[in-house]
Amino acid sequence: MTQSKHILVVEDEQRLADLLRDYLQQAGFNVSCLDNGLKVVSFVRQKKPDMVLLDLMLPGKDGMEICKEIRPFSSVPIIMITARVEEIDRLLGLELGADDYICKPFSPREVVARVKAVLRRTDGSIGRPQGLVMDEGTHKATLNGATLDLTVVEFQLLNILAATPGRIYSRDHLMDRIYPDHRVVSDRTIDSHIKKLRKKLSGIRPDQSLVHSVYGLGYKFEEG
Ligand code: CA
Repeated sequence: MTQSKHILVVEDEQRLADLLRDYLQQAGFNVSCLDNGLKVVSFVRQKKPDMVLLDLMLPGKDGMEICKEIRPFSSVPIIMITARVEEIDRLLGLELGADDYICKPFSPREVVARVKAVLRRTDGSIGRPQGLVMDEGTHKATLNGATLDLTVVEFQLLNILAATPGRIYSRDHLMDRIYPDHRVVSDRTIDSHIKKLRKKLSGIRPDQSLVHSVYGLGYKFEEG
């Protein structure tokens, strides 16, 4: 299914770009490589790749800026590659719209696995779980036909997380979305709402967890 997908690798370190190209080609992908940030946005516009692997530090234009410029016209999945693990938290907070983050040094095998996972997710084969219905007008939610008795905050949290399964949201981001008036709330406020939300979800689906915490980063929604 992923055989003919076209992956754009944006990486200025030739050795890494070659390595990624080799592994991705072996996995059956078509691969294009760019080594300068200035060429990326027009390439995406014209060639419409199925995914972009985007290094953060690039000559010409950095990965963050590129991501910001791509998003208004394309929802192509973007995996951001960074040399510093601490950077990921900051990038998440900026809400650039990247679909996943990979830290250098990486194993090319892992990159291929992440590429496949993101493609599966964004192909829509892993979407909202079967049976989750959310009505934003009435703030009513049902799972498997059973009413989830959610508070407004719990509804909002679930609605944000479930809209893009697999995407990790930082606590800061969730707080900004839920308390746009910047009311002072602690990280633990979000944690405690999430805890109650999980309890309500597992009341209906005891065998499956839907809201996952990602250590040190935040939360994501994923089936299984
Ligand atoms: Ca670089």
